Amino acid sequence: MMEALIFEKSKRARKAVSLPEVDLGKEIEKRIPSNYLRKTGLGLPEVSEPDLVRHFTRLSQRNMSVDTNFYPLGSCTMKYNPKINEALANLPGLSELHPYQPSSGVQGILHILHETGRMLEEISGMDGISLQPAAGAHGELTSMLMIKAYFEDRKEKRDKILIPDSAHGTNPASSSLAGFKVVKIDSNPEGEVDLKCLSRNMDEKVACIMLTIPNTLGLFEKNILDIAQIIHSKGGFIYLDGANLNALMGITRPGDFGVDVMHFNLHKTFSTPHGGGGPGSGPVGTKEKLTAYLPVPTIEKKGDDYWLNYQRSKSIGKVRSFYGNVRVVIKTYCYLRILGKEGLRQVSEDAILSANYIRKKLESYYPSPYKGVCMHECVLSAKNKREKGVRALDIAKRLLDFGIHPPTIYFPLIVEEALMIEPTETESKETLDAFIDALVQISREIEKNPSLVKEAPHTTPILRLDEVEANRSPQVKMEEQGLTGFQTRINKGARG
Ligand SMILES: *Cc1c(COP(=O)(O)O)cnc(C)c1O
Repeated sequence: MMEALIFEKSKRARKAVSLPEVDLGKEIEKRIPSNYLRKTGLGLPEVSEPDLVRHFTRLSQRNMSVDTNFYPLGSCTMKYNPKINEALANLPGLSELHPYQPSSGVQGILHILHETGRMLEEISGMDGISLQPAAGAHGELTSMLMIKAYFEDRKEKRDKILIPDSAHGTNPASSSLAGFKVVKIDSNPEGEVDLKCLSRNMDEKVACIMLTIPNTLGLFEKNILDIAQIIHSKGGFIYLDGANLNALMGITRPGDFGVDVMHFNLHKTFSTPHGGGGPGSGPVGTKEKLTAYLPVPTIEKKGDDYWLNYQRSKSIGKVRSFYGNVRVVIKTYCYLRILGKEGLRQVSEDAILSANYIRKKLESYYPSPYKGVCMHECVLSAKNKREKGVRALDIAKRLLDFGIHPPTIYFPLIVEEALMIEPTETESKETLDAFIDALVQISREIEKNPSLVKEAPHTTPILRLDEVEANRSPQVKMEEQGLTGFQTRINKGARG
């Protein structure tokens, strides 16, 4: 059944709460200047509490989530996050702190932040950490600004950044935002950085290369030591997009294979749910050469006391209010303390095992141009389904009928009809097998009855939307379109 908008359910004067009238009367006008007072009501929907709760609970059940469905969205690491870490981060002693409390009164949280930084250093082999950046892309930008400040200090004019063609879109975006020119580096037939192309483009104008390891094809850059040599010999830095750390923890450390600066995605690797636009955290780590440039404040320890160091003359300054998204960091701290060294290594090994299990079982149905063992995600291709008129998008839509969130599609850009699958370490063999069976069945359907796949999904509350129309002429403003216009557009794709 179509769920009406909450505004359509509104009945005048119906309420979900009953608070006493404000008894200030005329006093309000004396206390608040009249130009700040509302002339009209808020225009909020007026509904009873059960109607409100049911409306939003029903809506929430129409979405897929990690708590309800397998969610193998490549590159995004949609793993299940233990609820214990949420509970710990919500303890009043932590969640009710105020960022303006003096550091003498918040030694506990400073201890947690400081320790988390030290653990991230140990995992990555970096020498310094800032927990401030609010997301992966923000960590990238912060790092590019540090690199820029480093070369400006030395009066070296370096305005180029090398980025492989398999990179995540945020890499070129962050480089441009920091004022650099982006130079694209080709991949070789194995899906790794083409060393000839790299050497050709590396010169004294290059500030750094932004590498993702494992790269977005799920492959470890086997030539990383050669890459590091080529870049370092001409004075450039190696930046690691560390969003894929889920594959490396406890096995190898970026700082040991040549990385100078990197970001972490706490909301991917370290126990914070994401995808709904909630707070994330993208700390950056640097080797000694760049630590002076880290944002202020850094959290430091003298004897048994923690303090916030704002007096760092080379720092690029603040990149986020206060100390970053502290509650995300608390969850990371709990996650790391619960798992320990051995546990973390197991996370990565299981993530890699799951991805290779899926790759092996599916590669004869959806062959990828890149062969061989992958890391924590595998990239398959639906190119061979084109002759039946079926595309990766259709397969993604059909998976919804099996109660499975689709993998990432059409990324990385260098694989035609890409299906980028990241199962993560938190899924059971039964779940992986159900996913494999679904994709095998879909492959058979494409042979026998391709329209079944092309017209999917068949069972979701909203069927296939006209995405081109939705992009070309989005109608989101209710006052312009009227509720019914907005509703009709959605209804076109709705069942029943
Ligand atoms: C997710 C991701 C990013 C960006 O992280 P955000 O937190 O979404 O800004 C960058 N690179 C890679 C490889 C990613 O998977």
